[in-house]
Amino acid sequence: MYDVVIIGSGPAGYVAAIRASQLGLKTACIEKSFDASGKAQLGGTCLNVGCIPSKALLDSSHRYSDALNHFSDHGIEISPPKLDIAKMMARKDQIVSQLTSGVTGLFKANKVTPIFGSAKVLSSSQVEVSLDGKTEIIETKNIVIASGSSPINIPVAPIDQQNIVDSTGALEFLAVPKRLGIIGAGVIGLELGSVWARLGSEVTILEAMDDFLPMADQQISKDVLREFNKQGLNINLGCKVTLATPSAKNVKVSFDTKEGSSELTVDKLIVAVGRKPNTENLLGEDSGLLLDERGFIPVNDFCETSVKNIWAVGDVVRGPMLAHKASEEGIMVVERIAGKHAEMHYDLVPSVIYTHPEVAWVGKNEAELTEAGVEFQTGSFPFAASGRALTSGESRGFVKVIADKKTDTILGVHAFGPSAADIVQQGVVAMEFGASAEDLGLTIFSHPTVSEALHEAAMAVNGQAIHIGNRKK
Ligand code: FAD
Ligand code: NAD
Repeated sequence: MYDVVIIGSGPAGYVAAIRASQLGLKTACIEKSFDASGKAQLGGTCLNVGCIPSKALLDSSHRYSDALNHFSDHGIEISPPKLDIAKMMARKDQIVSQLTSGVTGLFKANKVTPIFGSAKVLSSSQVEVSLDGKTEIIETKNIVIASGSSPINIPVAPIDQQNIVDSTGALEFLAVPKRLGIIGAGVIGLELGSVWARLGSEVTILEAMDDFLPMADQQISKDVLREFNKQGLNINLGCKVTLATPSAKNVKVSFDTKEGSSELTVDKLIVAVGRKPNTENLLGEDSGLLLDERGFIPVNDFCETSVKNIWAVGDVVRGPMLAHKASEEGIMVVERIAGKHAEMHYDLVPSVIYTHPEVAWVGKNEAELTEAGVEFQTGSFPFAASGRALTSGESRGFVKVIADKKTDTILGVHAFGPSAADIVQQGVVAMEFGASAEDLGLTIFSHPTVSEALHEAAMAVNGQAIHIGNRKK
């Protein structure tokens, strides 16, 4: 009998398993995924086909594009750099393998029992595991469902992983497609579109909505759209794809806009229109659990389901589909199982788009606060006025701090520019401790760093930034 059985070894499941074992709970983690060679694949979407391989390619492609376009700005002349895609992919695969083996090692070190096979919840104390036609019933005191998510498929563009691919296929191209189409201008469309545009693809993105990045600060969305179009992502809003037809050589994509019907011919098409929870065949008839209308497992703020001792965390439940949100939920749940007080600060889950420049934010944006009737004031600082940003030739974008008008408590930090992810992370720490804009303004920042833009933006909230003309009194 286990204390906890966790279904899924992604960032929600494997992190929960390790913490559960640290807390003295007898823990097993079930994973159903195997690679092409038949080796069990721990690590979930994030490590195998998500965060990690995409960031490896973003970094490699950024270096290539820098060598091609920006070394000469620094007085470094080189003959045009040559691309070795096979080597770039091998490097990515090696990093994935290193990290997934790392999870195996962490399970061993922490005495987590890995079990390979497909899990089904039979009741709050029984999980059935099937592998190669054999089944086994595992008894446990608690079940944590961390089965994650998969790409959404749309019938008008069926995935064949050759010409029409999802995000997994888009991490595996063996040659740079001359013309690349992408359906969806969300996070994956922008990140993977950036990878292939930097490597030489002519990218066209077709987005159904009229708004671009509606979840980001409005000013940032506007600037980001302009910048990414300049970078060659060719983002088209308000496009409804009606059919994508693959042939031996290319893919014809038909779509409707307000102006009428159009057609686009591309060599490869990526479908990146969101992800859906993995709940198919997961729940036995007597599990007592029901799914919501979109297939998610309903949970409360503590990730408790409607059945006692069954919990659900990560992409399979409501909220942003992000690895760090998944992991923190996993930790919260097993700490609660172990009888500790633990909770999630859902307002403080940061978002990052790892383009160049990066886009990142935490907390509320101006539109959300206005809608909620909260009085606030903002301070912004452009990277064009940051000494460090100028020395590295990275002066696009700005940082914005939003604070409550009466209390000066920081309500949101938004950034588009160099190291935006790390800058916003400093905002997360400040907000976790309930800091005011003045607190951040009184904090000493190293000079010269791009983080100074956060310092100045915080001071600008009260009209006290030094390096821009914003003084109120
Ligand atoms: P998953 O990682 O999906 O893991 C679930 C695991 O459960 C899988 O291994 C699956 O095989 C297993 N499983 C499912 N059903 C069963 C079953 N019945 N029995 C046994 N095992 C089962 N997020 C970020 O925060 N930052 C990023 O930079 C980022 N980049 C991304 C890039 C891409 C291309 C993609 C696709 C996603 C990215 N994400 C990123 C999202 C991130 O990968 C997910 O939010 C995260 O992996 C969710 O973790 P999870 O543990 O809930 O689920
Ligand atoms: P997304 O929700 O970010 O974007 C999907 C986009 O596709 C949206 O803009 C949507 O309007 C559009 N769309 C939907 N249906 C369409 C259609 N039929 N035609 C045209 N456009 C359509 O989803 P994603 O980019 O697929 O990413 C999936 C998830 O993975 C996201 O929720 C994200 O949180 C996570 N992810 C995170 C990161 C990161 O943290 N950096 C990176 C990659 C993925």
